Amino acid sequence: MLSRVELKQVVKRFGDVTAVKRLNLSIREGEFFTLLGPSGCGKTTILRMIAGFYQPSEGRILFDTNDVTHLPPHRRDTGMVFQNYALFPHMTVMENVAFGLQVRKRPREEIKRRVEEALAQVRLAGYGERRISQLSGGQQQRVALARALVIRPRILLLDEPLSNLDARLRDEMRAEIINLQRSLGITTVYVTHDQTEALSMSDRIAVFNQGVCQQVGTPMEVYNTPTNSFVAAFVGETNLLPCTVRSVTPETVTVSCGDWVLTVDNRPENVASLPDDPEGKPLFASIRPEGIRLTDESAPNAIKGTVTLVQFTGSTLQCTAELEGGITLRALFLNLRRGMERIRKGETLWFDLPKEQIRLVPPAPGGEADG
Ligand code: ATP
Repeated sequence: MLSRVELKQVVKRFGDVTAVKRLNLSIREGEFFTLLGPSGCGKTTILRMIAGFYQPSEGRILFDTNDVTHLPPHRRDTGMVFQNYALFPHMTVMENVAFGLQVRKRPREEIKRRVEEALAQVRLAGYGERRISQLSGGQQQRVALARALVIRPRILLLDEPLSNLDARLRDEMRAEIINLQRSLGITTVYVTHDQTEALSMSDRIAVFNQGVCQQVGTPMEVYNTPTNSFVAAFVGETNLLPCTVRSVTPETVTVSCGDWVLTVDNRPENVASLPDDPEGKPLFASIRPEGIRLTDESAPNAIKGTVTLVQFTGSTLQCTAELEGGITLRALFLNLRRGMERIRKGETLWFDLPKEQIRLVPPAPGGEADG
């Protein structure tokens, strides 16, 4: 019943715009797989190609070993939830959910039974006779989910399903969708631009920018070992300091960042994304705000900056500083130490960039690339 989804060398062009650039993706059976990226990066286009609403310009799409590239949507066994739900407002909940089964010409009794079952799955039992206009946003979202599930799809496709809900409801529905996906074990492809949603819900994430897949990995992998500057900055927050490699030893990699020299641990988690022969190539030293400490100039990776903003939130202190060369550095101190309350705008401070906290990453590719 469950399906693996494979995209092989898929390209999608709309006139002059290449929305998806040569994409290879392999989504595992039963997996919660998220397409994450900023607006316009091609996520919806990919989802619509999997559903069959768009044909790829090049390449193939397989469900298990079946080539579905040219199959129409209703023959693909996918259930889709659209961003705006796309419910029929003048029809009842029951009629909306029944739609996919009526198109498939199932007997009346079966339709009734399966609609009730789907409504129960999304905790809307007893709402069948209501009109869509009488439902809250969260309830409409559940009807859309029931309508996708009622056909017992092999693959569930969700396009930013939570973006129209307020923050509290979004948290609630996030948990509900995960529970439902886990209990049904259905292969799920989820589209979002929200990194927190992606990190908290997914088994694996594919990060996209400008139609190019930048990285595929578990939430921990993309957060902890981003493959390039785009992923480092888009998933979580980071500081990116332009740098070049000066020398490499078995223990450390030394880089120049403008006038500063930084030492970085030569361990996979810090340097795995370095290109071959990295000397002289443009790179970034990526360090998360919470990895930075306050120090004095004696620390090996001490960098001087002028404070431009201080924000105390009770449990944390956020400090933004401008480094020489106009680079902005953001530090987040989670363990407040005595004296920190005296940090003021305009002050000059030394920031320690510990060598185990820095990751060296190449710039993001812009052109054709494999995912
Ligand atoms: P969003 O989060 O804003 O929906 P997205 O990442 O889902 O963005 P897509 O909607 O897939 O991005 O769009 C990718 C690119 O393809 C954009 O440049 C968009 O303008 C273009 N595009 C998408 N659909 C069409 C279409 N039907 N005709 C022409 N261009 C399109």
